[in-house]
Amino acid sequence: MRAAIVAVGSELLGTDRLDTNSLKLTALLAEHGIELVAKSVVGDDEAWLAAELTRRLSEVDLVLVTGGLGPTEDDCTRAATARALGLTTRFDPQLEATIRRRFERMGLVMPEVNRRQAEVIEGGVVLDNEWGTAPGLRLSAGDSTLWLFPGVPRELAGMMERHLRPWLERRAPGGSREQRVLKVSCVPESTLEEQIAPAYREFGREAITVLAKPGEIQLRFWALGEPAQRQRRLDEIELRLRRLIGPAVYARGEEASLEETVGELLRAAGQTVVTAESCTGGLVAERLTRVSGSSDYFLGAAVTYSNTLKAAMLAVPPELLAEHGAVSEPVACSMASGGRRALGGDFCIALTGIAGPGGGSEDKPVGTVHIAVAGPSDEEVVHRRICYPGDRQGIRSLASQVGLEMLRRLLLKPTA
Ligand code: ATP
Ligand code: MG
Repeated sequence: MRAAIVAVGSELLGTDRLDTNSLKLTALLAEHGIELVAKSVVGDDEAWLAAELTRRLSEVDLVLVTGGLGPTEDDCTRAATARALGLTTRFDPQLEATIRRRFERMGLVMPEVNRRQAEVIEGGVVLDNEWGTAPGLRLSAGDSTLWLFPGVPRELAGMMERHLRPWLERRAPGGSREQRVLKVSCVPESTLEEQIAPAYREFGREAITVLAKPGEIQLRFWALGEPAQRQRRLDEIELRLRRLIGPAVYARGEEASLEETVGELLRAAGQTVVTAESCTGGLVAERLTRVSGSSDYFLGAAVTYSNTLKAAMLAVPPELLAEHGAVSEPVACSMASGGRRALGGDFCIALTGIAGPGGGSEDKPVGTVHIAVAGPSDEEVVHRRICYPGDRQGIRSLASQVGLEMLRRLLLKPTA
């Protein structure tokens, strides 16, 4: 089965609204092993949309449309579809009653314009929408099937799960596809590719995808078949990947984050963390506190941008600052151990660097960040220097990632 998606809405042609609905539909198609061959955005224009639908229906087996089912004049998906298929529309009083009841349940009177949403195309199957007023429609057009969904993202998501998923499941060749994600932190992509080469040979190259961004790699892998069969296969691939990569795998799942994993480790160890931040301006603290319940292990932060505050709040010796400069290993280590003592945590993550775009020099180019983590005993301070040729946001973001990863590695070490 081959599919195409058409997103309808003039606002999606501008610069301030992105078509995100098609991403949800794309993921669902991928889960069912259905090839997506085209994706388009069409404004609220009946003639353009009718032409687009005619074309797509001649090319693929499945056309998924979102948007333009609203009650207003510009919503033309119903009319364009009827035109493309050469079908007539008819007013459905029962559907009107359903829509009217929806409004009444919300304590509202249905505006007259909403009667338009009770127009159905001859031969179409009405898809009820319990998340909004616009019902969807499914139509056959020759050998192809056309689906019309509302544009409101929440409604699309609900209806897709309710109506489209079961329909696809019945038609998916060889059962549905399930995806699993492993997250790996602070390993260069090429190193990782080398490490997982045996898994490529074992499971097939197409079974595993590597998605890299600075400081984090997502490994995505798939399995086909019945649920139990898929689970077994996914477990098998995951185990193999974890063996090959080792402790750099920090979590499973799309939504998982490094700050969450670090938090879980801290909580399990009954330990606390503080941060002493210069160039990241509190970003590491911000990330740690994104996780609900982080007050169990995060105590607070010192944002010390100036040398004066580094000395005053973290007891960094002024001689050290004078001799090595604020962006240096000795100062980062001193910030970490000083921060740990001043703020009273078991661990302290300290960061000092040059996020740019100005302020670089030959021996300390923009992108240089010294990161140190102190704890849990006074002697124990680990240090890393990164030099990343990115923009300001990218440098700060990578530095925060490395800081959290350094703490995670310390927490993985069995305590004596
Ligand atoms: P409906 O069929 O649900 O009435 P519509 O296109 O007629 O949808 P609009 O008022 O145009 O309704 O859009 C509703 C909201 O949904 C808007 O905020 C719009 O930007 C958003 N939206 C529409 N299509 C998409 C899309 N493809 N991706 C993300 N958001 C979308
Ligand atoms: Mg619209």
